Amino acid sequence: MQIYSAPIRDMQFVAHELHTDDGFGGLPAFAEITPDLVEAVLTEGAKICEGVLLPLNRSGDEEGCTLENGAVRTPAGFIDAWRQFADGGWNALVLPTQWGGQGLPESVGKLVEEMICATNVSFSLYPGLTNGAIAAIDAYASEELKQAYLPKMVAGEWSGTMCLTEPHCGTDLGLLRTRAEPLTDGSYAVSGAKIFISAGDQDLTGNIVHLVLARLPDAPKGVKGISLFLVPKLLPDDAGNPSIRNGATCTAIEHKMGIKASATCQMLFEDAKGWLVGQPHRGLEAMFTMMNAERVGVGIQGLGIGEAAYQSAVWYAKDRLQGRSLSGVKHPDKPADPIIVHPDVRRMLLTMRAWNEGCRAIAGWVARALDAEKHGVDAEQRARAAGFVALMTPVVKALFTDLGLESASLAVQVYGGHGFIRESGVEQYMRDARIAMLYEGTNGIQALDLVGRKLPADMGRNLRGLFHPISAFIEDNAGDEALAPTITGLKRAFEALQGATAMIAERGLRDPEEAGAAATDYLRLMGLVAMAYCFAKSVKVAQAQLAAGTGEVGFYTAKIATARFFFDRLLPQATAAFLAIKAGKASIMAFDEAAF
Ligand SMILES: Cc1cc2nc3c(=O)[nH]c(=O)nc-3n(C[C@H](O)[C@H](O)[C@H](O)COP(=O)(O)OP(=O)(O)OC[C@H]3O[C@@H](n4cnc5c(N)ncnc54)[C@H](O)[C@@H]3O)c2cc1C
Repeated sequence: MQIYSAPIRDMQFVAHELHTDDGFGGLPAFAEITPDLVEAVLTEGAKICEGVLLPLNRSGDEEGCTLENGAVRTPAGFIDAWRQFADGGWNALVLPTQWGGQGLPESVGKLVEEMICATNVSFSLYPGLTNGAIAAIDAYASEELKQAYLPKMVAGEWSGTMCLTEPHCGTDLGLLRTRAEPLTDGSYAVSGAKIFISAGDQDLTGNIVHLVLARLPDAPKGVKGISLFLVPKLLPDDAGNPSIRNGATCTAIEHKMGIKASATCQMLFEDAKGWLVGQPHRGLEAMFTMMNAERVGVGIQGLGIGEAAYQSAVWYAKDRLQGRSLSGVKHPDKPADPIIVHPDVRRMLLTMRAWNEGCRAIAGWVARALDAEKHGVDAEQRARAAGFVALMTPVVKALFTDLGLESASLAVQVYGGHGFIRESGVEQYMRDARIAMLYEGTNGIQALDLVGRKLPADMGRNLRGLFHPISAFIEDNAGDEALAPTITGLKRAFEALQGATAMIAERGLRDPEEAGAAATDYLRLMGLVAMAYCFAKSVKVAQAQLAAGTGEVGFYTAKIATARFFFDRLLPQATAAFLAIKAGKASIMAFDEAAF
């Protein structure tokens, strides 16, 4: 059974109690965003997610999307859900007010996004890609294009896509072949085949705005010769209404392992009319605005599914009767005890819980930096925030999605054989979670981005945004006895991260394969340390609340208990990651290719 109730109290904790000292808060742009307003948004967001999106999650998975006469049909109920979603402004929560959005902070928007992903990750792709396309158009398109497209996209009348992938060109965008020929009226004729295009066609919106990477005739080879084009499905008439069919067609949809209610389309562009977005040959730069936003969003997919999987597993563990407690019968009136009494089941539930709380805390931290990047009070604050976001984007994307799959898999394990059966609902979480580790750049590529680009960027300035607050916290709380076990664990993991960073910098400079071999373990280590810092802070906040006797004893006691589990049972993985990094590339690269 798919169970979900939005964890609003924990979300409020992240929004208002955890990150108050990170230097990204107190933005004048959001002076009117009070805790009461946030609570109202979260409560209403939970209603639409639990009441409208969750009931369509399983049916959407069973039915999937279909292609009929060149048009994609989404599963029953999706059109109505989209209407309610857009009418309520949920698609435009954080979008700029200039174009009709609500202009709320990302630190609130990401919490609602988690609810959307938890209740229907397939559905989340339709607004998710649209919002990414809006960000790229807003940052790079001409004023004319912005005026023509953004109000309708922000209103949810039109949607957006991201068209990079071609059959021979996935990670390596330098291989891209789609062409764009200039036309006399200043527009371009775009031709080529794209695959795996999420929401390439659908029946939710009146028009679809494709952002397509293509090459101009004079383009240099490789990634430096790629430009970005805006190609609508229907060309707007003089009044701005969608009218003439453009040469952009969905030729097939993919039959997939998961996210079946999200239409994944093969697209054919045949002299499709399009307009340049940004500078010629600088399309990747513009597309990265979209991809970076999407990468954080994909991380949130992992978190959302992890939370939904956890809640279903907790419900089942309390309901399913098998065996007796090792410490003596707990329910003599029943034929057996509920499986939640067993240490191994509790280990699984607490692992999911800790990963979810840890990821939510990191997401809240990064979301505040996203807000400060845009609305910071001065250039220094905006640059500091941008550096932190750049560093943490691959971590959020890869760590959260790895852990989302782990949680979904643990939920199946808690259900036993029943978890493998479709009716349980949890096997869908596993299938839906898997894609997030692949798209928007595989998790392996995220790790390479972290060690190859983000670490060395700006002479290590990005890294300071993570390291400084952690070392300051360790120093400031060194004498706090109540925090001692937490600080000890954090300090050990942080020292491992510092050691690994120096090692990668030194070895990677000599031999890039060393950095490549270390990358995935390094990303995990950094994620664990960021999480340990968040848990340590949450213990401090919870201890202070309990000491002050402000109430909510259950909530704060559970916070401390979850953190304790994390430090005792999960953070030791940091040591393993460090040892793997230390071992270097030898055992990976010395293996004879012929022996594989
Ligand atoms: C359901 C779904 C939806 C999608 N939606 C979209 C979309 O909306 N728009 C869009 O443009 N694309 C989309 N994609 C495409 C997706 O982004 C790509 O599949 C992904 O980027 C990986 O590319 P690939 O599949 O070609 O794998 P490949 O690039 O062939 O990679 C295969 C393996 O090799 C590894 N690898 C490749 N190069 C390197 C390297 N240099 N160093 C180390 N390892 C490497 C990868 O990590 C991976 O493990 C979607 C895909 C799916 C399945």
